[in-house]
Amino acid sequence: MLNIGCHLSVSKGFAAMGREALKIDANTFQFFTRNPRGSKAKKIEVEDVERLIAIAEDNHFARMVGHAPYTLNPCSAEERTREFAWEVMEDDLRRMEYLPNGLYNFHPGSHVGQGIDVGVEYVASLLNDIMKPQQRTLVLLETMAGKGSEVGRTFEELKLIIDKVTLKDKVGVCLDTCHVFDAGYDIVNDLEGVLQEFDRIIGLDRLYAVHLNDSKNQMGSGKDRHEKLGEGIMGMAAFYRIINHPKLRELPFILETPNELPGYAAEIKLLREAYMNDTD
Ligand code: FE
Ligand code: FE
Ligand code: ZN
Repeated sequence: MLNIGCHLSVSKGFAAMGREALKIDANTFQFFTRNPRGSKAKKIEVEDVERLIAIAEDNHFARMVGHAPYTLNPCSAEERTREFAWEVMEDDLRRMEYLPNGLYNFHPGSHVGQGIDVGVEYVASLLNDIMKPQQRTLVLLETMAGKGSEVGRTFEELKLIIDKVTLKDKVGVCLDTCHVFDAGYDIVNDLEGVLQEFDRIIGLDRLYAVHLNDSKNQMGSGKDRHEKLGEGIMGMAAFYRIINHPKLRELPFILETPNELPGYAAEIKLLREAYMNDTD
């Protein structure tokens, strides 16, 4: 079965996201661990999370994804900004443990002129500081479009970070289709080649989730503007190839397209219909 869901609002709680996912025929989803501006997170209601876990089990959900606030900058030049990322992510990782085998996705940040090596060092030392041997949550670095001085535009940059992380079995990558396309990887015409490069540099065994987004901009634009599937430059056929690719098809796919629930439901329906199901 295709593991597909979309980004949902956490404002009504965890069980509510599970019910919302079911309504749109999703079997996973992503949520912001707190409001995107990165302020205070709501207290975890254990019963609410347990209701979500029951929904997830009953309906064979794939791993769910918590997304760190995208405004954090773990490799800022300002010490206070780096500390703030540390505080938020450390707290997030503790909260993510309430979910069984959750995925925690974050943006490596922008090195703001300090250079890639400095950015890589800041991100890796942050992770080594906050990750715990006993945690069940996997931490995922998201592939970035390379806007401004974003770290993580290339697979090589992500690999540099992973190489410095001590708890290697708890770190991986989330591939965002819009971001890699905007970064200059031709996943529309050469999906196979891009995945081979990912495998050679990072290893496909480190890929744990895919963000499915079309792009408003041309390949290599470095822009990061998501579009609805099939309405952007990438086109629908690219997404049918991505969800059916033998190396990707078992992964959780998360839509971050500019949609409300009915739009997400329509995208999920199209993708489920285009998914080649095994006949076992
Ligand atoms: Fe993201
Ligand atoms: Fe994304
Ligand atoms: Zn994006």
